[in-house]
Amino acid sequence: MNHERSRGLYDRALSVMPGGVNSSVRANMPHPFFIERGDGGHVIDADGNRYVDWVMGYGPLLYGHDLPDPVEAAVQSHVAEGPMYGAPTEVEIEHAEFVARHVPSVESIRFVNSGTEATVSAVRLARGHTGRDKIVVMQGGYHGAQESTLVEGSPEDHGPSTKGIPEEFAEHTLPIPFNDPQAAKEVFAEHGDDIAAVLVEPILANMGIVAPIDGYHETLRDLCDDHGSLLIFDEVITGFRVGGLGCAQSKFGVTPDVTTFGKIIGGGFPVGAIGGKADIIEGFTPAGEVFQSGTFSGHPVTMAAGKATLEYAAENDVYEHVNRLGRKLREGISEICAERAPEYTVVGTDSMFKTVFTRDAPDDPDACCAGGCRQDPDCARYDACPKTGADVAAAATDRWERVFWQEMKDRGVFLTANQYECQFTSYAHTEEDVERTLEAYREAI
Ligand code: PLP
Repeated sequence: MNHERSRGLYDRALSVMPGGVNSSVRANMPHPFFIERGDGGHVIDADGNRYVDWVMGYGPLLYGHDLPDPVEAAVQSHVAEGPMYGAPTEVEIEHAEFVARHVPSVESIRFVNSGTEATVSAVRLARGHTGRDKIVVMQGGYHGAQESTLVEGSPEDHGPSTKGIPEEFAEHTLPIPFNDPQAAKEVFAEHGDDIAAVLVEPILANMGIVAPIDGYHETLRDLCDDHGSLLIFDEVITGFRVGGLGCAQSKFGVTPDVTTFGKIIGGGFPVGAIGGKADIIEGFTPAGEVFQSGTFSGHPVTMAAGKATLEYAAENDVYEHVNRLGRKLREGISEICAERAPEYTVVGTDSMFKTVFTRDAPDDPDACCAGGCRQDPDCARYDACPKTGADVAAAATDRWERVFWQEMKDRGVFLTANQYECQFTSYAHTEEDVERTLEAYREAI
């Protein structure tokens, strides 16, 4: 594949933008390919190369690169009427009503502009609501580029995971291992009276997709109830993707106090939201005393796109389609791995999938249960399977970014370039895209 133009654009970008990109995950090796345009489930790069795109903008693009007619019409009409006003519009109410109607834990919602802004605001809201400072997060979890959650370590010994965050900020954040109920009980036993909230993705989708073990979220729910802390589900990725319109919380049957949203609810435009019980969400100014504000919040174009996106999903076989393709990919890749490379494991659910490297090939290749072993201590591969962020990092060798990702890209398949981010199917993808991708996997693995 020729990448001459992308290479040139990257050199130009490097001279005016740090690392040549506006989001660090886009800096693929040896250089990112620059996108010219999208087409259904595909992207075409600046050199005219076509790829099946499973990155899908890192999650927002439920319809791939073809907006359904009603979504496009909603966007166009709001652009034509002037893009934004700095005053409320009816479409914000309609979007909020849709979310409240379909997500039982949501009575009231505040729209913002990104998933990061949503989790920043949710943490502030929880602190304001409880009058406490400490936040419990999962080791290796990701909740955006924000001070309270870019923290690594253990409850006893932790600090910022990046330069630029004062140690004092990180003191208030307690990282515990996901799927370890005992660790959750211990952190509450030690710090319960100071914990404002537990912030957790219902499925750790931004850590190589780790599903909760049975009863884990119920344990968190009980601990929060017993100690007067809030349970915040970060559904920025899983919201309106896993579990359909009821979101992942409906799939697991656990009701959080607060939910953060992003990605899909903006229909491809910048968005975030904080929803939950009215008496908590009304803690935000001007109803309450926790300051929250934003020039672009509830942007009419985003609201129109997001509302039309969700309405279209409610009226068509969208989740059936994306979940069917997700299942086909997981099954197909799983077969290929079992046959050719048993040290790889496929994980995912609904319309999400990810191939992760495990540390060791099992002695018995038939022992592979495609990621379920993360949850089943009796499985022969349980010890070898990555179960936490640290495991994923330890298992992620250069093979993924420098070898596998490249091999797939050279075969016209665009995947996320690191071990943490997952892939998504969309309504625009076809069975043919799945077949072409499996063929590329067969060769690349
Ligand atoms: N929360 C989760 C679970 C995410 O995956 C992300 C981003 O990928 C965020 C929050 C932050 O969202 P954004 O990138 O829109 O700021």
